[in-house]
Formats: sequence, C-alpha cells, structure tokens
Amino acid sequence: MLKQLLNECRFTLTIHTEGPVLIKSGHPMVFGPDMTPVRTYRNGTMEVYLPGSSLKGVFRSHIEKIIRTLKDGIVCNLFVRTEPDSENNQLVCPNYTEVSCGDKFEVRQKEAIAVRKVQWRRYPQKEDLSNEAVYLDSCPVCRLFGSTSFIGRVAISDAYLAKGSQQKTEQRDGVGIDRFTGGAATASGAKFDLQVVSSGVDFETDIYIRNFEVWQLGILMLIVTDLEDGLIRIGSGRSRGLGNVKAKISEVSVNYIGAVNGQSTNEVWGLGSLLGDDSYGTRANDKVTTQHTPIEDTRGYRKITTFRDNSLKDLKKATIEAFVAKIQSWEIPETMQFKNLVFRRGRGNE
Ligand SMILES: [Zn+2]
Repeated sequence: MLKQLLNECRFTLTIHTEGPVLIKSGHPMVFGPDMTPVRTYRNGTMEVYLPGSSLKGVFRSHIEKIIRTLKDGIVCNLFVRTEPDSENNQLVCPNYTEVSCGDKFEVRQKEAIAVRKVQWRRYPQKEDLSNEAVYLDSCPVCRLFGSTSFIGRVAISDAYLAKGSQQKTEQRDGVGIDRFTGGAATASGAKFDLQVVSSGVDFETDIYIRNFEVWQLGILMLIVTDLEDGLIRIGSGRSRGLGNVKAKISEVSVNYIGAVNGQSTNEVWGLGSLLGDDSYGTRANDKVTTQHTPIEDTRGYRKITTFRDNSLKDLKKATIEAFVAKIQSWEIPETMQFKNLVFRRGRGNE
C-alpha cells in the first residue's frame, strides 16, 4: 500500500467478561479436543489471553453482517473460492459476487496474462496488479481487514489481563458431540470438563489503524459501540451462551504526520483529504467535524489529537454516519463483476 504514513489512529479497548468465555487453545485433551483457554507465559506465570487474530475475526464477521444489512451483495465471502482446496471443503462460487477478493484478483491476473499471450504471441511476464488497483477494487471489508492480495489497514494486538485484574478460570460441564449422529455422545461417556475464563475478568488490547479513510474509522467506532452494548460475543460456544463480553474505551488518539494545511482542530481528516488527488478511490472531502474540540498536542513530527468524553461521542457519531453513507453508495467496480466467467465447480457442489 502507500509508502507514506499520512494519518493513524490508536486506542486501547478494555474487554470485560460478563460470563464464561472460551477461546480454545487448540491443544488436544483426553476428552474432546482443545477445550481449554489459550494461555501464554507472561509476568512469570501462565496467563490466559485473547489472541488478536481471534478478535479480528469476530470483528470482521460482525461488520460483514452489518454491511450486508445496509447493502446486500457488496461484501465478499472469504470462504468462497474459485477452486476447491485440496480437501475440497471450500465453498466454490455459487455466486460470483461472493467470491473472496483475493481469488478475484488472482483470476484478473490470469486473465491479463492470457490476453497478453494472444496479443503479443509470446510468453508474457507476470502481470502485477498495482497496489492502487487492488485497494480500489477490494470490497469494503477487505479494504480495512485485508485479503490474500492486500495486507489491510488495521492491527489488533493480543488482549492480555488488564493491570490489577485477577486471572479467573472455572470448569464447566461439556457434552461431547457424536461425530456420526450429531447428538450427545453420552453412550461413549464423552462428557468432559470445559475450562473457561470466568466472568469479571478484564483484558486490554491495542487497536491501531493507519492511512485510514474516515468511514473506516467509523467501522472501528461501530464495533466499539456494539461491544459497549454487549452485542458482540467472542470465542467458542457462542450459540450455547458462552462469550458474553462488554468493552469500553476511554480515549481515541488520531495522529497526523507533519503539518496539515488548512485543517482546523475540530476536523478529522481521512486519507482522501490528506492525499487530495482522488487516488486510491478516495475523495478529497474525506473529513468530519466534531462539535466538541479534542485535545491537541505536537510531539516531534506528529500532530496528536485526543478525543475523550464529549469529543469522543462526536467522533463516534460523525464517523459512523460517514460509514453508513459510504456503504449505501458503494458500487462494485466493473472489473470485479466477472459476468462471463465460468468457474470450476468443486465436487461438493455437483
Ligand atoms: Zn473482500
């Protein structure tokens, strides 16, 4: 992506467990696989934590649902591929609009090579799609969270126990699921203990986004708001009542590198306003204004604006509105529609 760093935003999210939470370790146990929480060695003891990759996955799928509700058919599905994987357990393209952005770019690359072969009658070089084209044509979720073709803009660190928070875990009854009947496997005695993180534990994670457009900051603010309202569950067993959390943030810091000409303190400028040339599919009016003024500071080359309380409320409201407006006017680029493409069907679909 961009070699420059124009803006960045960071905040710390505190996640409070409101009930038992299980993010599985993946280590097989005697009864049932991986029914213990992930742990890492930290501060001299083994501590439970919430992996950033798991949180990112949960946030991503939450926002996919919201975007599909706002405007159907514009978000790709990471699990829909153009070709089945070696175990044939990927969904293979029931509908081209759903194919993952990563696979679509791969197809485009192949098509471009094929065209060159015909036109020039010689074996072509690998046709690299420009970073700009990949960003511009990615779906709204991949533009923020990334795909196999694009690294994404957001980083979510592992969430460790907050300072002063005690590590609490407990055993719960779990019932093994019979792999053949799908029912409870009581006959074979596969009742096992589930170890979970208890209610009342605080974790902290740092969230960072760079070179963002204002609507992308809106996605993060929407996720924060839904976490504050307890609407997002994390980890395993969500359908069985596990994973209730509530989260909060106390401040958001938005930084710019170097002076930004013409920007007032109450304005948040996204990538589009900072670039000012409509490249990367951005728009020069990529900014929002908060009614309450954030705290402004300079450190070295960075201009730092910190939003708390009322200015933070304004920031959430303005960026979430920008997100909704952006999604409602989103169009899939012609280059990503593949109307004439015939996909190979996986054995699973025949
Ligand atoms: Zn996508």
